[in-house]
Amino acid sequence: MSSYWQPILPYNAVCCRYSEIGTKGRNRGVFIRHMNEGLERCLNGAFGKPHFDVERGRVYLYPENEGMELTSEQVDALRREIPALPGIASVSPGWRCKATLADLEEYIWRTFPVVYEAFIKVFPPDQRRYAMRVNRCDKRFPMCSRDIEMHFAERILAEHPDLKLDLKTPTLKICVDLRPSGIFVDYERIAGAGGLPAGSGGTALALLSGGIDSPVACYEMIRRGTYVDFITFHSSPYTPEAGLTKICDIARVLNHFQHRGRVVAVNLLPLQKAIRDNCEEKFRTVHYRRNMMRLASIVANYFGSEALVTGDNLGQVASQTLTNMRVIEDACPMMILRPLLVYDKLDIIAVAEKIGTFPISQIQVPDSCTVFAPVGPTTHANLGAVRADEAKLDLPVLLRECLKQTTIMSTLNYAAHPFTELQEVPLPL
Ligand code: ATP
Ligand code: MG
Repeated sequence: MSSYWQPILPYNAVCCRYSEIGTKGRNRGVFIRHMNEGLERCLNGAFGKPHFDVERGRVYLYPENEGMELTSEQVDALRREIPALPGIASVSPGWRCKATLADLEEYIWRTFPVVYEAFIKVFPPDQRRYAMRVNRCDKRFPMCSRDIEMHFAERILAEHPDLKLDLKTPTLKICVDLRPSGIFVDYERIAGAGGLPAGSGGTALALLSGGIDSPVACYEMIRRGTYVDFITFHSSPYTPEAGLTKICDIARVLNHFQHRGRVVAVNLLPLQKAIRDNCEEKFRTVHYRRNMMRLASIVANYFGSEALVTGDNLGQVASQTLTNMRVIEDACPMMILRPLLVYDKLDIIAVAEKIGTFPISQIQVPDSCTVFAPVGPTTHANLGAVRADEAKLDLPVLLRECLKQTTIMSTLNYAAHPFTELQEVPLPL
């Protein structure tokens, strides 16, 4: 059921259903913490210090003080943000009341007319299919599920002859959960992003550029439960400061979906100058990339990341032919993951829009790769020739020079702190 036609009702609780997959054992606590953080962010303090009621397969969130309700902005935020939250099956804003039929009736008779009015604006008469689904977890409740469903159906169907009872494919559905702690009732199910809970699938370091692709690649990894840190390459002073603030802005959006990925910024300029002055022009881009991979793997090793992630997309640009990817990978001692390898550009853009990175990526800032960019980059570099060309460089010195100019950035205030620990680490040569 699409939630977009749903009106805003009085809501004093939120029910969050998560996929059980990947939430077993130790992961469960971590996941529930991430999910709670995601919910709290959407609700932005709505519930004071909310309390969570964790039951099998779901988390209920209740306000600190009885009587607090969600504002329409908070409900909008849930509808907007939940569809991108990893590991979540669905979320329902709803109403929690005492476990009595009178309390349930009071809420339903108060809200049903509002829901019905919005419903008939969107669904033509031949699509008006009604159902109530009661889940009676509290067997002490005096009526059984079917009796409750029939009790409400009788009156609702009598008063709205255009509604047809349809338990299989209802377009208007009331869900009632009878729990020992009270009743939870909702009309709406906001579908989550699926995937696996944040933090349940290992750790990776992603090469994040200001383009459209790499933020989506990061999101796809996060959606499968991988915790992602970020590394970006700039060519200061040839590339502007704005490039780095843009990366921090993108990382902040991505951190919506996980717990605080770190942002590392490396100045590639010392290497780029040496490559410009010593190597063949047509290999420049490939040389840049090989060294990005080396530097990224140094940082990844330091963080304990298990893999590198890129936004590579087969055939998109010169460096993304199979031949060149192979030549680039040759310099990398770590596993490289390319979640977007076979995506269509339009699909990548659709995800970028859904998660909110697209408008930031659209801001044009010169990228590190364009500094001294060759006129005719090769699309089919010969590995032997590239290695021979690279032998002209004093890599240990150049890599150390780049590491000296490496910082960790705050996504909140863009402050850059020297990453001095990297100066001692071994080089992957
Ligand atoms: P994107 O939209 O992600 O920038 P792109 O289509 O522009 O991708 P390339 O510029 O060839 O493709 O980059 C391929 C991948 O290499 C990027 O997705 C990213 O993972 C990595 N990359 C490229 N430039 C940088 C950079 N300056 N800093 C960090 N990673 C980079
Ligand atoms: Mg790019």
